[in-house]
Amino acid sequence: MLYRRMRLKFQPAPKAIYFEQNATPAEWGSWHWQLRRSLKSRADFERVFDLASEESAAFSGSGELQAFQIRTTPYYASLASTTEPLDPIRLIFMPRKEELSLGVQDQLDPLGEKKNNPAPRLIHRYPDRVLFLVTDFCSVYCRYCTRKHFTGGEQAFAREDDYTKALQYISAHPEIREVILSGGDPLTLSDDVLAKVLTDIRRIDHVEIIRIGSRMPVVNPMRITLELAALLRSVKPVYMMTHFNHPRELTAEAAEGLERLVDHGVPIFNQMVLLNGVNNDPRIVQALSRRLLYLRVKPYYMFQCDPSQGTDHLRTSIDESLEIQRALWGTLSGLAMPTYSVDIPDGGGKTTLVPDFELRDQRTGTVESGITRVYRGWDGVQAEYKSPPLERRRTPLDAEVYSDEWATLLRR
Ligand SMILES: *Cc1c(COP(=O)(O)O)cnc(C)c1O
Ligand code: SF4
Repeated sequence: MLYRRMRLKFQPAPKAIYFEQNATPAEWGSWHWQLRRSLKSRADFERVFDLASEESAAFSGSGELQAFQIRTTPYYASLASTTEPLDPIRLIFMPRKEELSLGVQDQLDPLGEKKNNPAPRLIHRYPDRVLFLVTDFCSVYCRYCTRKHFTGGEQAFAREDDYTKALQYISAHPEIREVILSGGDPLTLSDDVLAKVLTDIRRIDHVEIIRIGSRMPVVNPMRITLELAALLRSVKPVYMMTHFNHPRELTAEAAEGLERLVDHGVPIFNQMVLLNGVNNDPRIVQALSRRLLYLRVKPYYMFQCDPSQGTDHLRTSIDESLEIQRALWGTLSGLAMPTYSVDIPDGGGKTTLVPDFELRDQRTGTVESGITRVYRGWDGVQAEYKSPPLERRRTPLDAEVYSDEWATLLRR
């Protein structure tokens, strides 16, 4: 069995002694139990962790900024050191007092999402795809969350009238080809609710792709049950966008969940965020990307952390991120290579940054005679590329080839 080979390569979660004493293997393996027994209060955390004063102080929530929700599953907590406050996994879920002071660019809504909010729970920023924030609840609240203006609020599935309005908007906009379920974490919804959402969206003819953005495979991988995988297969094509930041998050449990999804025909893409002290080293990104690829997960984006409130201590500089990107170039399989991307604040949209390999001052020639450009590759090899003189021939456009009807026709 592939799963057994996986187990050899991926270690099970260590389960701190506290959890083992309090849970049977069946309880530990239940995503509901993981949600019910999540750590939320200072007392919950003190039972497991030696809290540093910077952490302890964060629970009182008194500072210039409002405290963001605190929560982690026992499973995810067990991946962190109980004694080392600067442990990478611990930095992701454990609040610190730095969060409560103003930073260089604190924005409650860094991506200007409220400007692109045409219907309740919808963010329509790009013409062909829309985000549908189905719930604002997460089983772990990441300290760097970009959507602090929404996440961890009412903690619920969209209200009936909001849900209906959102679906009506999608139905009324045939240019929408993709619906991206986001939040919050859509996989915290029950199978029944999720099945309703997925089938309601599938009924809209012009929607081709459904994406689900979820951190459950990372923080509560027990959620990826056979029933869930079968549900996703039944409304295909569904793409899973997950969010691993560190190789240690790839446990045997996580590997099994990912494996199950891919085996049910759900392609998985990973979106990581560069975080100070968590993964800001090319060797970490490389290890993470290679292990994900082995599990048939495509490393998709490597995001610059958004200037969300209280995240200064977790953000890298753009210069440092570019250096990491350059170190990966050429040494990491193209399949394993994430695209470094910055989401331009105030709703500017995503932009991709790549190392600059062109030696611009050495560009010569004209459009008529052909232009020569000079490049230096990742390992220093320098060479010219000559474009032929301009004589454009247009690609013939055959109406059937570029028609928008194909997906609808395919389904009938
Ligand atoms: C990131 C994002 C998307 C998806 O972008 P892709 O580049 O297609 O992955 C869509 N809508 C919004 C508002 C986004 O922030
Ligand atoms: S899972 Fe996503 S939405 Fe939820 S707290 Fe983490 S970053 Fe924010």
